[in-house]
Amino acid sequence: MAQFQDLWQKLHIEYDRFARTTSPQHRAIVTEFYQRVWEQGDIYLERQQGWYCVACEEFKDEKELLGDRKCPIHVTMPCEWRDEPNYFFRLSKYQARLEALYQERPEFIQPLSRRNEVLGFVSQGLRDFSISRVNLSWGIPVPTDPSHTLYVWFDALLGYLSALLEPGDAPTLANALAKWFPFRLHLIGKDILRFHAIYWPAMLMSAELPLPERVFGHGFLTKDGLKMGKSLGNTLDPFALVEAYGADAVRYFFLREIAFGKDGDFSEKRFVETVNADLANSLGNLLNRSLNMTHKYCGGRVPTPQTETIQTLTAPVVALARTLGDRLAPGYESLDFAGVCEGILALVTACNKLIDEVAPWKRFKEGDAAAIAELLYTVLEAARLSTYGLSPITPTLSREAYRQLGLVFPDVNSWEHTRWGILPTDTALPQPSPLFQRLPVPA
Ligand SMILES: [Zn+2]
Repeated sequence: MAQFQDLWQKLHIEYDRFARTTSPQHRAIVTEFYQRVWEQGDIYLERQQGWYCVACEEFKDEKELLGDRKCPIHVTMPCEWRDEPNYFFRLSKYQARLEALYQERPEFIQPLSRRNEVLGFVSQGLRDFSISRVNLSWGIPVPTDPSHTLYVWFDALLGYLSALLEPGDAPTLANALAKWFPFRLHLIGKDILRFHAIYWPAMLMSAELPLPERVFGHGFLTKDGLKMGKSLGNTLDPFALVEAYGADAVRYFFLREIAFGKDGDFSEKRFVETVNADLANSLGNLLNRSLNMTHKYCGGRVPTPQTETIQTLTAPVVALARTLGDRLAPGYESLDFAGVCEGILALVTACNKLIDEVAPWKRFKEGDAAAIAELLYTVLEAARLSTYGLSPITPTLSREAYRQLGLVFPDVNSWEHTRWGILPTDTALPQPSPLFQRLPVPA
């Protein structure tokens, strides 16, 4: 666990709570929730015999199993023979209500491919799932029968509720639900989608609680086109990656390169090419050349655009920049991070092209100071907007860009900062330095 927290810190990932399901508060929440579901008549004891997939948490018909009694979904794990009394949650009772949920709220499960997987699974008919084991030395005792222990998903999913308790709150369901519930988004790996998209809403329905807005199952990574695994010896060490390239480059690559929700591939060559092209060459170069020219032609102060001499040239870029925030907001909302990056790069590319078209080095010789002032204000402000828009993905780089623009990065994020014209004119600019150091191309 400490390793995860250490990695989040190195990747500059912040969180409000790091919750585990071993706390006494969690036990109290589980007990209260269980009681609600019990009173609905949704929990019953039954002796079950059969082949059981631990990962699916369900009994399998012999005929659906592969050779060596392996689960078709979990082919590396042979099913276990079970012959014991278990408490079951009456998932089958919620079949129709779940199907109605998926129909009425198509956005509930995302992305679409995962939604289709879940619909396909549910349409085959839901089975009740086991929520207890006997003879376990750890875990939370079943409140109505302490000879049983609650087992895995019923307990684990309730970790989302106990994590909502404020420090010092009495551990009651009412306190847990008071402030942050219901959830807007569960962001999870695709392998645990079924538990979040089927079991969890059914449990909440049984407890008569509101459902989350959406469940998003993200994809998995391959490396150089191959599935990663210890046996192949090709696992990707995130610590080594951050150590070698810095957090911003790592964050940027994965969010830019992989359509969020799909599986994606990592190759070091592709990684270096992408971050060099986008962060060093496009964005870094835009800021660096704009600042250098401001030092050279405008005395190192943000110029004041005074005339409309080259407005036919700058106007399209300004229009693009003015609407950037409006285009990024839905991208971030829908977790389309690749689209967000593309939107920003389009503005950056337009700015670099604009500089070449206006050619301030020629205008300087011609003594056209007004055109230079207008151009440089346009590209400096567009660079500010671009780095602000990218700041959820590249926080360190964005703060450095603000510093080089003579600004302090705002403490509180707001779409207000994507308004055009925030960069104050006549701001004294520090000496520019490369925003993003180009990475050496691997051999
Ligand atoms: Zn399975």
